[in-house]
Amino acid sequence: MSTNEDKCEIIIIGGGVIGLAIAAELSRQGREVIVIESEDKTMQHASSHNSEVIHSGIYYEQDSLKAKLCVEGNSLLYEYCSKNQIDYINSGKLIVASNQDELPIIESLKKNGEENGVTDIKFLDEKELAILEPSLKAINALKIESTGIIDSHAYSLCLEAEIEGNNNHIITSSKVMNGGYSGRYWELEIGERDSHTIKSDLVINASGYNSSKLGRILGIKNLPEVTYIKGHYYKYHGRNPFKHLIYPIPEKHGLGVHTSSDIQNSLRFGPDAEVVEKPDYIFDSSDERRSRFIESISQYFKDFNSELLGEDFCGIRARIGNSHKGSDFSILFREDHGIEGLVNIGGIESPGLTSSPAIAKYISKRL
Ligand SMILES: Cc1cc2nc3c(=O)[nH]c(=O)nc-3n(C[C@H](O)[C@H](O)[C@H](O)COP(=O)(O)OP(=O)(O)OC[C@H]3O[C@@H](n4cnc5c(N)ncnc54)[C@H](O)[C@@H]3O)c2cc1C
Repeated sequence: MSTNEDKCEIIIIGGGVIGLAIAAELSRQGREVIVIESEDKTMQHASSHNSEVIHSGIYYEQDSLKAKLCVEGNSLLYEYCSKNQIDYINSGKLIVASNQDELPIIESLKKNGEENGVTDIKFLDEKELAILEPSLKAINALKIESTGIIDSHAYSLCLEAEIEGNNNHIITSSKVMNGGYSGRYWELEIGERDSHTIKSDLVINASGYNSSKLGRILGIKNLPEVTYIKGHYYKYHGRNPFKHLIYPIPEKHGLGVHTSSDIQNSLRFGPDAEVVEKPDYIFDSSDERRSRFIESISQYFKDFNSELLGEDFCGIRARIGNSHKGSDFSILFREDHGIEGLVNIGGIESPGLTSSPAIAKYISKRL
């Protein structure tokens, strides 16, 4: 900390991918940043419980932050991965129509994507699909080249190296309990027991699904409630026959039970989407859930063997809004909430990982 004994320039609350991406961006500009994380490691919540897909930006409302920051984040993320030797696979993705009723839906997705600035969407018929993906059952599909998979763990390690390489700090096992603006600087109370105070000029609240609750503690009135959407993933103990990521048409709360793979090309299905009262990571092993997955996957996977499906993990999306398409990222500055020196970030559900470098630039430009 440089100025005024124990005061630093910027405190970022939350060591998920959003907090880290912002801290790395500000570090590159020579700004003084401290990331404060409540867990004993960074990346323990949404940022490590997701599909690791680099999205294109096709689904989101035109002119929404999700649309703009996803399209921009897509190219920034590929660029960052290439520059820093982070593993990624630019596999491309197919959004499939299983029957005639779904055709208008994929047509409107194509239009929406193009309006959002996604330039690489192609319409494929059944014959083309049979050649491209022989294990796929579908009558038509959209092919989007710019979708891919990232090794998000390697991405976060690289961001952390940048932050620390620029003489900034990430402090773990430190929960922000309270805080307020004194008129000259921020004072944050850290720690449940043996608490201490830390001062800064600016605070950026990037605390994931806690951000509305913490934002209210920091003084913002009328912050929207966060809806917790829990998603389960199953892994497939068989060969991955698909070259592309395969997505059914989107549902109200999510993108449908789609395939995803990691950098090792193992096959996974999910997430489903269920509104829950309290966030937790407990896997629901009920037969109903498993049957719903089997039904959904069987619609597009020809030789699917349900006996090879094993439980994997769950993630919690933090949504502001009431549907996947009709909700947006919420990034609020003093002009929006009236409090000096505070940026409040909420509702960073998917495509937050993809958008992270663009969110970081968007915020740094406005500070
Ligand atoms: C099931 C699922 C699938 C997804 N799939 C994709 C995908 O394929 N592609 C994509 O682009 N995006 C995807 N996303 C979205 C992406 O994962 C999130 O947008 C992103 O991880 C959000 O990062 P974050 O830093 O805001 O939140 P988090 O990763 O949750 O980080 C917030 C951090 O704040 C800390 N914190 C909370 N309260 C305090 C406090 N009081 N004091 C200090 N620290 C605190 C937490 O411990 C946590 O580490 C998915 C999300 C989910 C849940």
